[in-house]
Amino acid sequence: MKSQGSTTVSLCREGKPKTFGVHQLVCRAFHGEPPSGHEVCHSNGDSTDTLATNLRWDSRAANAQDTIDHGRNAQLSKTRCPRGHEYTPDNTGATSGGRRRCLRCHAESSNRRYHATKELKGRAKKSHCVNGHALESNQYPSNGACITCTKARAKARAAAGYVSPGRL
Ligand SMILES: [Zn+2]
Ligand SMILES: [Zn+2]
Repeated sequence: MKSQGSTTVSLCREGKPKTFGVHQLVCRAFHGEPPSGHEVCHSNGDSTDTLATNLRWDSRAANAQDTIDHGRNAQLSKTRCPRGHEYTPDNTGATSGGRRRCLRCHAESSNRRYHATKELKGRAKKSHCVNGHALESNQYPSNGACITCTKARAKARAAAGYVSPGRL
């Protein structure tokens, strides 16, 4: 038996050299032969940790879930959001997907949205028409035109003898 690095060893079995991961050997030694389809799982997510207490036989699916969990834990252990705000209990919320989010960033972005909408509405909504008529309840909802002006224009046209084609 010769050692190849720290995580694999080569053993001769029935005359053929075979390479095993150290964690597989440790797992076999401490937890017996693997049930079929099972592989070595690192309970603490550290694949370089070959302590027997960190190893177990488990299915490939469980191993994959392990990796996801450890990735999520690594994410959770971050103390600041991408923009550098600290994840204090007061500043930590959850998204609908169960992920952590920075409440300050969230508040800032909804604040920005709020002001953006307000500005948009302010621009779209005039209080008076070009002729100074108050537009409140004096505005066609469809196009925002001043009703007084529109009627006055129609009156003026009628007075000038003009008949709109629509009325013929
Ligand atoms: Zn933030
Ligand atoms: Zn008007």
